[in-house]
Order: sequence, then structure tokens, then C-alpha cells
Amino acid sequence: MLDFAYFFFLLAAIAIGWMLGRGSSKKKPDFSEQEESLARSYAQGLNYLLSEHHDDSIDKFIDSLEVSPATFDTHLALGNLLRRRGEYDQAIRVHQNLLARPSLSRQSQHKAQFELACDYIAAGWLDRAERLLQELVETSQELRTTSLEHLVEVYRDEREWAKAIHAVNLLHGRRFKRLSADWAPVQAHFCCELAEEAIAAKDYLSARKHLDAALGYDRSSVRACLLWARLEYLLGKQRDAIKVLQRIPKQSPDYIPEILELLLTCYGELGDGRGLDRYLESLLKEHPSNSVLIALAERIQEQDSEAAAAAFMGKQLALRPSLRGLGRFLDLYIGTAQGRARENLSLLKTLVDQLIANRPHYRCSNCGFSGNQLHWLCPSCKHWDSVRSVKGIEGE
Ligand SMILES: [Zn+2]
Repeated sequence: MLDFAYFFFLLAAIAIGWMLGRGSSKKKPDFSEQEESLARSYAQGLNYLLSEHHDDSIDKFIDSLEVSPATFDTHLALGNLLRRRGEYDQAIRVHQNLLARPSLSRQSQHKAQFELACDYIAAGWLDRAERLLQELVETSQELRTTSLEHLVEVYRDEREWAKAIHAVNLLHGRRFKRLSADWAPVQAHFCCELAEEAIAAKDYLSARKHLDAALGYDRSSVRACLLWARLEYLLGKQRDAIKVLQRIPKQSPDYIPEILELLLTCYGELGDGRGLDRYLESLLKEHPSNSVLIALAERIQEQDSEAAAAAFMGKQLALRPSLRGLGRFLDLYIGTAQGRARENLSLLKTLVDQLIANRPHYRCSNCGFSGNQLHWLCPSCKHWDSVRSVKGIEGE
């Protein structure tokens, strides 16, 4: 399918080529040497687009087509097309060539500057993009919003969280209420990033401040609750940590696997096995998942026996079959089996383990990216909160 920018560029280039030809023929029936050279380099430049790769033809094209209000959009479209093709150096040359023309209107210079910033972002030169976008925020009313949106992405990729928060506030005003539904969770994630840094530095006071801000932006932020629970635990308040963790299944059951480790630790340190069992049982009833099922089977094994845990798993697997559940079920049975039966079960367990190992635990609902680690920001499509644990027989 023809790319829109490509299509636009070709149309514009052909139109300008025709106008050049028409203008020349009206003034002078015969081409002058200069005009012939212009037409030749123009054709070579056009050939560049049609034949894909010729090292110097892009320069010829830039030379051939003077920058003027009439050709400005064509230059801009060429640069954008090159960027889309991944030819960042070439795109930068085209947009820099535009910026070097003082004869352009202020508005056109801003447009060229914005596209150059986009080239730098695509090429990974974030500091250069940051400078250009900051200038545009100050100087261009027309491009202020879109420049700020790009600046937020640049700060995000530079992990400059405080700057990102400031840029979002500039976009929407400083009051939390004025943040749109799209931006509030993003802003909460930026605050959570700051909270994580503060927790790592053992600055718990700042961490609490950042988490309060995160929940101020997005009351249902699962990540803020997970960090808040961790903070309470680090401060020795296991009971408070449990209370916070128990909010998460109500906010989003998809994140139940993420709460279990800390939940088990807190109940364990409090010596409240009965409270843990009661909570896990209610969780399994309300939001059935393999992680909770396996945690409960381990509790039964600890307190009763492998056989009792295996019987529990068998009953649950009949209701909700799953590979991970089957793996745990076989583990329990291997412990009770003897001789040939034990060998056969071990072989089956190896096969199930191989099947599980090849299945990702997490998948992005937006782009399909998968892996075995929870990412709040999808590394592939850069969406927040779109990576979740896989459901069904192969997952949770
Ligand atoms: Zn994604």
C-alpha cells in the first residue's frame, strides 16, 4: 500500500516539476544551461525516491529544488518520508536545509524545527530533540501542544521523571482535576517512577510523597498501591501492607499474581497462617487464578500432606484446566508415587515444564509483545498498563 506521505510527496514533486517546466517555457522557449542543470538534478532526485537508494541523489534533489513558500511542503514531505523509511541522516539533512533558510516565514521555520526534532527522536538523539522542542514550546503557539506531547515522550525515554511531570502539567494545567483520562494514569506512572527511585535510595519520606501524588492523579493506580504496600512493609508495618495489597484485586484482578509474594511474606512474618488461608480462599472464589491456586496448594502441603494438596489440585484442575496447575499437580503426585509410576510421572512433568517454559507469562494487549516480566510501559509500543499476565490454559 502506498504510504500517504510518499503519495503526497510524489504528487507535490510532479506538480512542482510541471510548474517549473511551464514557467520556463513561458519566459523562454529554450532551456538555459542553468535550467537544464536544474531539470536534470530534479529528475535525478525524483529518481531517488522511485529507485530507493542512491547515495548522492538526495543532495542533488535538495540542490535542485529551491526552498521557497511554493516548495516548502515538498521538502517537508520528503524529509518525513525519509524518516518513515528509517533513513534518519537523510531526513535530518533535508530538515536542516530548510532551517538554514532565513527567508522562510517564522511559521515554516517552526514546522521544520518540529520535524527535525522528530528526526532526532527517531534517531535516538534525545538531547537534541529536547532542546528543539523546548524552544518550540516557548516560541510557537501553534505547535506548543504537540511539542509538549513529544517532550513528555522524550523525558520518559530519558527517564527524567520530574521534567515529564512538569511537561504534562504544562499541557493540562496544574490542577489534578484537569488532567484527562488519558494523561492521569501516565502522570501517576511518572510519580511511581520517582517513588521507586526514592525507595531504592531508602528515602521513604519522599517515596510516600510521590505515591500520594500518584494516587492523587489516579486513585486506581495498581502500581502505586503495590509500591505503597512495599513501603509499609519496609517500615515494618506488615498489617498495613496487607490492607493495601488487598485493594489491588478489587482495582484490577489481572494483577493478583503481583501481590502474592509480598502478601505471603507479610502473613508469614505475622504468623497469621489462618488469615492467609482465609484470604487466599476468598480470592480463589472471587477471582480464580493459577497463582492463587498454587499458593493455596502449597499451604495445604505445608499444613497437611502432599496427598491432600494433590487431591485439592486435582479437583480444581477439573474445574479450570491449566498447564501451570498441571505442572504443580504432577510435582505433588511424583512425591507420593513409587517405582515405574514415579518414572512415568517425571517424564510427563519434564514435558509439561518444557511446554510452560516456551509460553510467555505476560503479553501486551496493544501490540502483542510478550515476555516473562511485567512491564508497566510496553517496551515495544510504549503503551502504559497494556502488558498483563496471560490468561487461559497456557497462563493464569
Ligand atoms: Zn505493546
